[in-house]
Amino acid sequence: MPEPTTLQHFIGGKPTAPAAGEYFESTNPATRRPLYRAARGNATDIDRAVTAATAAFEDPRWRDLSQTRRGHLLRRLGDLIAEHAEELARTETLDNGKLLREMRGQLATLPEYYHYYAGLADKIHGDVIPTSDRRVLNYTAREPLGVVGAITPWNSPLTLTSSKLAPALCAGNTVVVKPSEHTSASVLRLAELALEAGFPPGAVNVVTGFGAEAGQPLVDHPGLAKISFTGSTATGSRIASAAAGRFIGSTLELGGKSPNIVFEDADIPNAAMGVVAGIFAAAGQTCIAGSRVLVHRSVHDELLERVTARARAIRIGDPLEETTELGPLAFADQRDKVAGYVDLGREEGARVLTGGRATDGGGLGGWFYEPTILVDVDNSMRVVREEIFGPVLAVLPFDTEEEAVRIANDTEYGLAAGVWTTSLSRAHRMADRLEAGTVWVNTYRAMSPMSPRQGFKTSGVGVEHGTETIKEYTRLKSVWINT
Ligand code: NAD
Repeated sequence: MPEPTTLQHFIGGKPTAPAAGEYFESTNPATRRPLYRAARGNATDIDRAVTAATAAFEDPRWRDLSQTRRGHLLRRLGDLIAEHAEELARTETLDNGKLLREMRGQLATLPEYYHYYAGLADKIHGDVIPTSDRRVLNYTAREPLGVVGAITPWNSPLTLTSSKLAPALCAGNTVVVKPSEHTSASVLRLAELALEAGFPPGAVNVVTGFGAEAGQPLVDHPGLAKISFTGSTATGSRIASAAAGRFIGSTLELGGKSPNIVFEDADIPNAAMGVVAGIFAAAGQTCIAGSRVLVHRSVHDELLERVTARARAIRIGDPLEETTELGPLAFADQRDKVAGYVDLGREEGARVLTGGRATDGGGLGGWFYEPTILVDVDNSMRVVREEIFGPVLAVLPFDTEEEAVRIANDTEYGLAAGVWTTSLSRAHRMADRLEAGTVWVNTYRAMSPMSPRQGFKTSGVGVEHGTETIKEYTRLKSVWINT
């Protein structure tokens, strides 16, 4: 078997060997075969990357670049991503086991992230403020912050990194990315493409490695002006405290336990499809997974029958195959975590209607887990309250709209919610009453770089996407000039 490839950090526009000379192995989760060795970053590597990003931020080639030219670079990067879409999609599929079909879909929209912010780059401006003193001109300016740290998870590395990178660069910052230790490859390739697009060396840096060894030193680095994090609520809480202690801003996109609510007046076949896609896409490893289905008692059996039939028919297997519908979990611990939660559910009194077993993906040898549906559950059980991040759905019946709202909101999370109804007034009422940053009605998972999103409660702080997120990557200066 050939030696796995070796991946270096990407610092100051160059592949850079780790300071300690250490590497860690990444495996293909579908086959457990070694995929590559990546540089094991530490505080010295982070210091090098922040130094390179600081130099790039202060370099007149970047600092004095017109906002329109900045937009051109973003446009070019979007175009390069489109040109390399298949390569990037495959890289991520091999790394985290996401279906190639799903990845091709993600890559079809990923250039939009850069094209959208390309158009916004020269529309960032301050205002003239009419103060009461007419002899004084007061205006505001929106300035970039400096070096932005971006820490991202493994479930959608390219998309989640781009949600930070595109607006941060658009606003004139430079960036150090610390991708998840489980998925280093695609983000390193993205940084190379940024250089090829014409961003100066040091504008985009990547240090690979583990959270405690590379992530924490990035958050703690005195040269950092801002931290933007996507990952678990537990890590987010630690990062927010560290950032607050240093008076730098943090944008946090965290976990979820999103309710998908099916009313008696819903189009049930359509709702069933939405429920299945809501939980089983990416083997349940999405922050917005609709992991709790609340269903009106009068349509409970009909919906459950459809969802269960579909879940049982899902083809598990090689994520590179076009016909596969469910790939592996991204790594061994994640599969064990999912299995542990299902066991816990059994102990708590839940009944496993379908699934509930680990598999090797039809002989592939990877970390697969069957699509699983838990019934006879209530909202007090840990399987219903905690984020599992796997293909596990809990189904809860309800009798009234009031009860559905109460159960849906009875969670520490507030990331997303789905509503299935043909009543327009009910759709509006539910959108108003659900404590979630995103509410979908008769659809699930719709997303666009143009549409702002925010996690409520412990699901996040700050906004990603849309024009709104530019505020997260700029500071406001007020200038008074005595005329
Ligand atoms: P995680 O919190 O374990 O890790 C996320 C990143 O943080 C990784 O790069 C990791 O190395 C790093 N990290 C870990 N400890 C750190 C520390 N002390 N200091 C600095 N960095 C540290 O999360 P994960 O398991 O990689 O991802 C899954 C989680 O991400 C789920 O909870 C999911 O809901 C969440 N997520 C949220 C969104 C969203 O937009 N809200 C999107 C995708 C995933």
